[in-house]
Amino acid sequence: MPNHKAASARINQLKKELIKWNYHYFTLDEELFPEAARDSLKRELEQLEGEFPDLITADSPTQRVGAVLLGKLPKVKHLSRKYSLADAFNMEEVYEWGARIQKFVEGEAVSFIAEPKIDGLNISLHYENGEFVRAITRGDGVIGEDVSHTIRTAQNLPLTLAKKYTLEVGGEVYITRKDFERLNEGGEQQFANPRNLAAGAVRQLDPQIAADRNLQIACYHIGKNNLGDAAPKSQQAILELLQELNLPINPLYYFYNSLKEIEKLYKELQQKRDTLEFDIDGLVLKVNDFDQQQRMGRTAKTPRWALALKFPAAQASSKIIDIQIQVGRTGALTPVAHLQPVFVDGSTVSRATLHNEEEIERKDIHIGDTVIIQKAGDIIPEVVEVLTDMRTGLEQQFVMPLKCPICGSHTVKPEGEAIRRCSNKKCSARQREQLAHFVARGAMNIDGVGEKVVDQLLNADIITDATDLYFLEEGDLINLPLFKEKRVHNVIDSIRGSKHRPLHSFIFALGMRYIGEKTARDLAQHFSTKINKQTVSPLSVAKIFEPYAVEDYTAIAGIGDKVAESLVEWFKEPHNHHLLERFSEAGLELELPQAALSKLAGKTFVLTGTLHQLTRTDAKQKIIDLGGSVVGSVSKNTSYVVVGESAGSKYEKAKELDVATLSEDEFMQMLG
Ligand SMILES: [Zn+2]
Repeated sequence: MPNHKAASARINQLKKELIKWNYHYFTLDEELFPEAARDSLKRELEQLEGEFPDLITADSPTQRVGAVLLGKLPKVKHLSRKYSLADAFNMEEVYEWGARIQKFVEGEAVSFIAEPKIDGLNISLHYENGEFVRAITRGDGVIGEDVSHTIRTAQNLPLTLAKKYTLEVGGEVYITRKDFERLNEGGEQQFANPRNLAAGAVRQLDPQIAADRNLQIACYHIGKNNLGDAAPKSQQAILELLQELNLPINPLYYFYNSLKEIEKLYKELQQKRDTLEFDIDGLVLKVNDFDQQQRMGRTAKTPRWALALKFPAAQASSKIIDIQIQVGRTGALTPVAHLQPVFVDGSTVSRATLHNEEEIERKDIHIGDTVIIQKAGDIIPEVVEVLTDMRTGLEQQFVMPLKCPICGSHTVKPEGEAIRRCSNKKCSARQREQLAHFVARGAMNIDGVGEKVVDQLLNADIITDATDLYFLEEGDLINLPLFKEKRVHNVIDSIRGSKHRPLHSFIFALGMRYIGEKTARDLAQHFSTKINKQTVSPLSVAKIFEPYAVEDYTAIAGIGDKVAESLVEWFKEPHNHHLLERFSEAGLELELPQAALSKLAGKTFVLTGTLHQLTRTDAKQKIIDLGGSVVGSVSKNTSYVVVGESAGSKYEKAKELDVATLSEDEFMQMLG
């Protein structure tokens, strides 16, 4: 969580950018950047305002309904205040919403009406004694613009209702895809989407232009009215009454008894959306029963009983926290943006590729920039554009390193090529081996991440070393050929699960020269005598071992000169310190050998004779596992001599020195 000062600065920038966007969108009918990126900026603002409520101001775009008035058209006050709807971007949020509103109607069944959300322009229609009198844009929710002259041109709008009611009706004005294509082909002005075209048509002063664009209306709401006892008591009844009055409604609406059923519709509509007559950008969910709606009430901004469930967008905004270099299997150095995790196209992502140094320069990308990212079926999203207005001056220029970050060799970039490569042919191959070792059984034992997966992640420049695994999000993997959605989930789960492996597995996984499983155990055991805790971070491992000299290591039972030298060398390498730091940052907490498991701690064993229930090697391992040690000859310091069949001189020696002896059965009992 940012501090108050940082939050305040960020909030101000988000507000400025959103206000500018709104002005261009609602007033000038221009889209500065995609709506989906606007949505994620708005979400970030909402989140920050949630954490720092004292920073909410009345002019915040989260507190307002929408458009600044254009000024040319007459302004009219709405009969009732127009609220916008709260947004959700996935089913999880829908279920959370369901749980929240259920509290207001405890124990009652709640049913819902779901309608595809037409991507058009919100409109209020006024009928007096069954006659159309006025149409008003939403404006700021209190005052809108009178656009009766253009709305009147909509062919499906009845000017006279089937019954002589006085009503305020809410609906959406839109242009069909077919008309949009027709108009965009012929016209001199190109429009980004049907919504912009409709918005432009509605605000024309000349109704003929609106008539040419063939506006359509779909109604879904009745506001102020003189229906009296005939007033509908549910959303479904409203839709039925609207039809009865000859008012057009969205023909695709659904009645559901539970939110669970909506999930299917949500998925179906995402697939079908391109085949519909009109653009939709999600679903609108409403609690059907008005009595329940009433009890759920509204927040300051939105009614609680309704929700706009939007489709996942392929674009979103995020912030570049850092730019790091991935070294691929061919030695190619690829700069990758590490992002503030963001939900895009149905999953959370944390990386975006920046391709190469020229691309960074061309797009003017800095560390700390707020950017629009896009996922377009690619494995890893890319940065589309930098929102330069969001800069604070603290952004940092990225400098492409001239040395390989993996092996330190110099890099080469042939003239006319965009890609810089490590000159060391073995560099990336070694990296691959190390990763394969890291995930293997006996090491971090990460289920579902084998050599093939490691290869794929490296080839796609998604990871460079083992630390990167722990920063992956599901969305970073979802488009890789080897992964299906379900597997992605499992892989991320097992990576995260491996954050709590035993210390000796972690030490072994680091792949230091000469350090096998046994030495790793010896080191972990030794470590546990230094620190009185159950778990330990990788960085504290560095803190203990970095100052160690060769003699410090050889004093540990079971560690010889060669191993000791390798350890000293490994721990003095700054790159390795950085690795341990990143592992700690990722939240790794390694388990130390536990007291209960160290019941043989400090005990020395000598094994003699043949054992029947386990091999000599297994017996040794068990003793070590339980914290004890095994030596070759009996002395006064020996705790136990385990006496197997045909035991020889060692047994004699034990008796001589009065050292305790154990039969194989007694020994097995001791192991437990
Ligand atoms: Zn290299």
